[in-house]
Amino acid sequence: AIRLENVEKSFGDHVVLQNVSLSVGAGQVFALIGPSGAGKSTLLRCINLLERPTSGSITVDGVTIQTDHTIKPKELAALRSRVGMVFQSFNLFPHMTVLRNIALPQQRVLGRSRADAEDRAHALLGRVGLADKASQYPARCSGGQQQRIAIARALALDPKVMLFDEPTSALDPELGLEVLTVMRELADEGMTMVVVTHEMQFARDVSDHLVVMSDGGILEEGDPHDIFSGPRHARTRQFLRAVV
Ligand code: ATP
Ligand code: MG
Repeated sequence: AIRLENVEKSFGDHVVLQNVSLSVGAGQVFALIGPSGAGKSTLLRCINLLERPTSGSITVDGVTIQTDHTIKPKELAALRSRVGMVFQSFNLFPHMTVLRNIALPQQRVLGRSRADAEDRAHALLGRVGLADKASQYPARCSGGQQQRIAIARALALDPKVMLFDEPTSALDPELGLEVLTVMRELADEGMTMVVVTHEMQFARDVSDHLVVMSDGGILEEGDPHDIFSGPRHARTRQFLRAVV
């Protein structure tokens, strides 16, 4: 589970997040939507402290960080070990095979043996439908395949929650669909997920809860079907008209 309380973030005197509180229960899938510049990526990056909030607290799976206090390295490591993240760009290591891309972080971060890490990598490649790509290099894989490899790499570290920042927006629709299918399976298996997306169909059909952001705050949140069929705010209506 994830809990944010009164999270604020400024860059200099530019306030990017204001008073954001959010509670994601174990096994829930939250979709985060809203116009460009609303603060969606910043909020996601605050959850694993890739971006340090100016104030507020972040709790992931029982580990709480008060961001306006000194953060102990041990607490930070504990929080980060619970969070997997997948970005729009896949960031795979180009000079390593697909298998090594998934195995190496397990060896480095979790201290797994090479054999154990590679066993787990093979299993995860099977799970994302890429068992035959283990010895391939990333550049020889399609964008959709690379993104599924990035998901497998994140899952290999046994996160409690997964964060996705527009994982399909760099892909053409067909390749995006392969990635969305993997994400839907992950959701069905009970992974706790927060997904920033422009895929309104995914938001409507897969997420349990929709969060609409605008200008650094949460405009409204609730059941995706309710919000799509009857948005409460004019700003939400305007956004949905532009994207649906
Ligand atoms: P998009 O849909 O375009 O990805 P977003 O909702 O993810 O938008 P963010 O990337 O979170 O928006 O950006 C929110 C605001 O914070 C923007 O005004 C952006 O310019 C600002 N911002 C983000 N990162 C930084 C930074 N490192 N330094 C200064 N300003 C930043
Ligand atoms: Mg963004």
